[in-house]
Amino acid sequence: MTLDADWAERWIRRTADAVADRRDELTALDREIGDGDHGENLVRGFRAVVAKLDARRSEADGSVGSPRLVGDVLKLTATTLMSTVGGASGPLYGTAFLRAAKVTGHEAIDTRTIVAMLESALDGITARGKAEPGEKTMVDAWTPAVEAAERAAGEGDEADALRAAAAAADAGATATIPLVATKGRASYLGERSAGHEDPGARSTALLLAAAVSALDE
Ligand code: ADP
Ligand code: MG
Ligand code: MG
Repeated sequence: MTLDADWAERWIRRTADAVADRRDELTALDREIGDGDHGENLVRGFRAVVAKLDARRSEADGSVGSPRLVGDVLKLTATTLMSTVGGASGPLYGTAFLRAAKVTGHEAIDTRTIVAMLESALDGITARGKAEPGEKTMVDAWTPAVEAAERAAGEGDEADALRAAAAAADAGATATIPLVATKGRASYLGERSAGHEDPGARSTALLLAAAVSALDE
């Protein structure tokens, strides 16, 4: 198993498919505690990334041996999300992918690098949004994902780390239901935000599930 640029590209393409498939659900969640645009925001953003990946692919046809790195795919994703997603999630996911891109360097993606990528993504989200765990945001999916990846990395390979991260993000998203939001738009609702899953935590779970799905060609 090699986590190379092809894997990274499959990851982003499958995220685009996942958010398109689950757009109505993400929108419905955001309608409960936000402004109802989270599904639309992510579909637009990841569609734009896929269009750039397609364009880059057709340019690359014929050019021999052009270097393709995981970091390049993630950086393209970051800058495109930042420029196409208007909502809070655009800069947050954009920063996450930008930080993740930086730690991939030119090395092969091994278990340690996957964990570092996830940690860096979370650091970027926290630097940007200043949310702590328990504030009913995407941080509540990313935090357990990073912890689970760190644990799994002690015993397994990079695929095990990714699978552990995705499972923990899924559970983390579900666990946002009873929380009261204190960051982002949902915080305007105060106590009334309790009883609904955070849309960004759910989309984080979809994103990490797509990273696992991308392990298979
Ligand atoms: P907007 O709220 O601007 O309409 P989206 O609907 O696309 O943007 O994204 C909303 C999601 O962004 C929330 O569900 C939450 O997970 C996440 N979010 C909002 N503010 C923050 C923050 N300060 N830190 C982390 N995540 C945040
Ligand atoms: Mg919204
Ligand atoms: Mg909005």
